[in-house]
Amino acid sequence: MSATVFERSRPGRRAFSPPPLEVPPVDPAQLIEDRLLRRAPPALPELSEPQIVRHYVRLSKLNYDLDSGIYPLGSCTMKHNPRLHERLAALPGNARLHPLQDARRAQGALELMWRLERALAEIAGLPHVSLQPSAGSQGELAGVLLSRAYHAERGQERPLVLIPEAAHGTNPATVAMAGLRPLTIKSDAEGMVDVADLEAKVSEQVACLMLTNPNTLGIFERRIAQIAEIIHGVGAILYYDGANLNAILGHARPGDMGFDIVHFNLHKTFTQPHGGGGPGSGPIAVSERIEPYLMVPRVTRGEDGAFALDYDQPRSIGRLRSFHGNYGTFVRAYAYICSLGAAGLKDVAEAAVLNANYLLARLSDARVAQLLPLAYGKLCMHELVLSGAPLRRELKVKTLDLAKRLLDHGVHPPTIYFPLLVEEALMTAPTETETKETIDELADAIIAVLDEARSEPELLRSAPHTTPVGRLDEARAVREPVLRYRPEQSAAQAQRAADG
Ligand SMILES: *Cc1c(COP(=O)(O)O)cnc(C)c1O
Repeated sequence: MSATVFERSRPGRRAFSPPPLEVPPVDPAQLIEDRLLRRAPPALPELSEPQIVRHYVRLSKLNYDLDSGIYPLGSCTMKHNPRLHERLAALPGNARLHPLQDARRAQGALELMWRLERALAEIAGLPHVSLQPSAGSQGELAGVLLSRAYHAERGQERPLVLIPEAAHGTNPATVAMAGLRPLTIKSDAEGMVDVADLEAKVSEQVACLMLTNPNTLGIFERRIAQIAEIIHGVGAILYYDGANLNAILGHARPGDMGFDIVHFNLHKTFTQPHGGGGPGSGPIAVSERIEPYLMVPRVTRGEDGAFALDYDQPRSIGRLRSFHGNYGTFVRAYAYICSLGAAGLKDVAEAAVLNANYLLARLSDARVAQLLPLAYGKLCMHELVLSGAPLRRELKVKTLDLAKRLLDHGVHPPTIYFPLLVEEALMTAPTETETKETIDELADAIIAVLDEARSEPELLRSAPHTTPVGRLDEARAVREPVLRYRPEQSAAQAQRAADG
């Protein structure tokens, strides 16, 4: 049972043998440049078709996914993907559309993109949208490059980008990638931007401030109007990290708060299967003064109602990727917006915030709060951040141990050790798509694990005990994957196989 496919390999074993060719074979060297040809065949296992099928089915059963149970990450929202979206994305006109199709023969697709842009503009409260970026982080890169282009046209080179302590790690990484320098702004005692620190650091050297609101602590920045005034006062740009709009959808708009650029993560707020590498989508919405620099091509609608792609934008920062973005994600996001409607999007935000606060109320139970209290404030928006600092101090159990033990309770653990400013952080967002019962199960599992921490802390420190592999070296596992079940478990499986 525990042999890997490489060990099962037998020379010459094949899944499928085609009949002999009736035409002379072609030498690959005639078709492909020599420098691109392999010198030796790839080291792939040689297997029969049933072996391959069983291999992949076995792997799929080891996987944990949103279709198996709650996936309560904070920040990186994992909400249910309505099956309607998958049906629409799979329609041949969507799924089989060629990205190089002439715009005149892809009118439906361009119209969908144009309508999605209009809907996102309305949601952001900013008039112009580009769907091009492939991920939230690429939307950020677009935003920083747009800010740079805006200042450059005014003869200014502004090397600094202000980023609050609570920000997602992609913010400073993006800034570095764009060749600018991140400068951290402190948080105050309430978990919001420390305005005094902001005022001390702001200057005409600042290209923009990147802000998440509600921030990653799940707290709404109440002084946003004042922050906008400070940033605009030095001629800088206010950038909104809208990876997760769940808390404000339909209720508040970044454009109305004074933001100039917003990125959305269609693969978070607007559903989409994600995690494990995408495909993602990070459209941006911008104000009038940023619009001239937007990426090309732009989707336009002519007076005759025909849709076209416009490459003729002389002040544009250019292209960020091939083609027009991840089109399948546009179909799903547009389906989501249309099927919910404006009122339904408001309900999303209300239910997401209610669900998060319900979970928070369950976890405010004294048994939890003693060891794992809420890091800031009393209520939250769409997500909450707890601190395992007392758990570590009093019982020498880390948040990591707690998360690993949750796996044994059949629960996917929340995000841990982010945001960085919370010691032993545990961050979670149940989202609007989970039922009360499922949220109760998550709360019950956390409470049960904390009880175990009191009675048998070693159980947590050595967890997980029931997963195919135990605790991995999290850094090395990427390069040296562990492909074998735990030995003791393999023995148990072999026994079960023998018995059954
Ligand atoms: C997920 C996330 C990002 C980055 O988005 P990617 O699509 O993963 O690149 C940025 N900011 C916040 C707050 C996020 O949650």
